Amino acid sequence: MSVIKELKIDFISSGKKNFIYPTLIKYKNELILIDTGYPNMISKLEKAFQNNGESFSNLTRIWITHHDHDHIGSLHAIREKYPHIKVYAGAGEVPYIEGREIPLRMKQAVELQTHLSEEEQNEGLIFQKYLKSVEPDKVDFLLYDDMLLLDGNIKVIATPGHTKGHVSFYFHEEKTLIAGDALVIENNKLELPFPQFAENLETAKNSAKKLAQCPISKVLCYHGGTKEGSSFDIKKEILNAST
Ligand SMILES: [Zn+2]
Repeated sequence: MSVIKELKIDFISSGKKNFIYPTLIKYKNELILIDTGYPNMISKLEKAFQNNGESFSNLTRIWITHHDHDHIGSLHAIREKYPHIKVYAGAGEVPYIEGREIPLRMKQAVELQTHLSEEEQNEGLIFQKYLKSVEPDKVDFLLYDDMLLLDGNIKVIATPGHTKGHVSFYFHEEKTLIAGDALVIENNKLELPFPQFAENLETAKNSAKKLAQCPISKVLCYHGGTKEGSSFDIKKEILNAST
C-alpha cells in the first residue's frame, strides 16, 4: 500500500484566499510529489511536507500531471535546491515543461488580449508576463497511458483534453484517483475544469469517461481537494460531469 496525502497549499487570487492540492506519495523508499504549485511556492511545499512528518530532502521523484503554470511553477526552483529529484511527465507535455514550445495558457492569453477592453489590457499583459516568468526544467522520464509504477500498484491514465499530454494516476489497491486537472471539485461535486481552458473539450469529456471505468472510492483533485464516496456514486458523478 502507498501512503497518499493531500497537501493543502494556500495562495491569494483576486484578493481572496484560495487553495491548490498537490499530492504526496510514500511507497517503500520513494517519496513522490505530484505537481509543484505556482511559482515561488517552494517554502510552502516544504512546510506542507514538514506538517506531514516528511522532509523535502527525501523527495525522490516529481510526477507532473500537465504543464500549466500552477502545476510546474515551482519545479525549477525545487530542482535547483534538490538536484537529485527525478521528474516524470507525459510525452505531450514535455516540450512545454522544457520551454521549447509556447504553453497553451500563453496562446489563450495572447488570443484573449485582442478582445480585452482598454482597462483590462494592462491586466492581460501582467498575466502574460507572469506566465513568461515560469522557468522551464528538464523531464527525466516519460509517462504513458497504462504505464505501471511503484511495483504495479499505480497506473498512469492518459487524460488528454485539458492539455494535450495530461495524465492522471490510479491506485488500484486504494481505489484512489489523482485526477490532476482532468476533474475538479466545485460545490462538493466532481466537474470538468472551465471549458474555455480546455485544449479540446470533447477529448476532455472522453478522458473523464475513461476515468469513470475505474472503480474509484476517492478522488484527489488539484482544484477542490478530495472527494470520497461509493464507487457507484463517484462513477455516476464523473459520467454526469462528462456529458
Ligand atoms: Zn491546468
